[in-house]
Amino acid sequence: MKKGIKDYYQILGVSRDASLDEIKSAYRRLAKLYHPDRNPDPSAEEKFKEINEAYYVLSDEERRKEYDSIFSSGDEKRFRSFLDYIQEFIKEVIKAERERGKRPRKGNDIRMKLYLTLEEAAFGGEKEISYDRWIDCPDCNGKGVQGEAQTVVCHACGGKGRRVSGIFSFPRPCSVCRGKGFIIKNPCPTCFGRGRVTTQARIKITIPPATEEGEVLKVPGKGHSGFNGGPPGDLYLKVFLKEHPIFKKVNKDLIVEKKISYPLAVLGGVTKVPTLEGKEEEIFIQPGTECGSTKTIPGKGFPSDKGRGNLIVTFRIEVPKDPSGKLRKLLEKVADELGDEGVERGESLGKKIAKIFKGS
Ligand SMILES: [Zn+2]
Ligand SMILES: [Zn+2]
Repeated sequence: MKKGIKDYYQILGVSRDASLDEIKSAYRRLAKLYHPDRNPDPSAEEKFKEINEAYYVLSDEERRKEYDSIFSSGDEKRFRSFLDYIQEFIKEVIKAERERGKRPRKGNDIRMKLYLTLEEAAFGGEKEISYDRWIDCPDCNGKGVQGEAQTVVCHACGGKGRRVSGIFSFPRPCSVCRGKGFIIKNPCPTCFGRGRVTTQARIKITIPPATEEGEVLKVPGKGHSGFNGGPPGDLYLKVFLKEHPIFKKVNKDLIVEKKISYPLAVLGGVTKVPTLEGKEEEIFIQPGTECGSTKTIPGKGFPSDKGRGNLIVTFRIEVPKDPSGKLRKLLEKVADELGDEGVERGESLGKKIAKIFKGS
């Protein structure tokens, strides 16, 4: 302050030759900090008023020139009449902002991942989910203070809300009071003065049939709660499909592996394969089915609005581990029939080795 003339540059924390952009960005930063929306204290409103006043003067080339000349002349009387002239405008700004601050505002949206099994995604249905959301603190009704607010001037910045600290040579918002210039003596102990608390929400959601990975499900009104009685935000769930123990999804098709016996593969016949519905589908095995060959069952794959994909069965030949007795003898006969002389006869290699170790 110079002989009762406000230093608007100091108020915005900019140099006397600051560009319009610098003035604008300083104003935006400070206006956010002292906005009546976030700052219930009357002293914050006073600051907000001052910031707007400074911005109103410095953001206009002509007004800035006039103010600069008043400031350098040190003519207090001239400054007072200048102030009278701009005061009306400032009043209007504050009134509009105060109205805006009290206006109900929609709460913030929540975005999260939703992991679904293939069955849940394919056929849809209800699912219970839980997640954290912000609600107004029930103990202080969102005010952040216990009863009437009692404030003390911030000891770190002396109430200025700004101070020079660290490597910065210009004043920055005070970290102790977060630029407010005051500290609330009686914050609500439940929400630590924030006015809001997190709570674990537990809700039932409806998953539409044929939901695909990457789809986003919107649950209206299940985001964070609103401000000043405004409506809550929305919940957005991005779908991810869990790995299935049996089926592998490739686009609309489901791939399943089926082990069949050697005789079934050679001679053909019937077997059953699981479906995504949890049922079984009987299928015909062609005589001479090779290991690794596939069979397509139409319409038993993953559903979509263009109809269901296919179920693709990949066959594997089941090989009995260490067969004994009758089966071993039969297989030896098969080997004889096929003329495969390399096949081990009598008993398995494993058993022979075990006997050697036992010494019998
Ligand atoms: Zn402070
Ligand atoms: Zn509270």
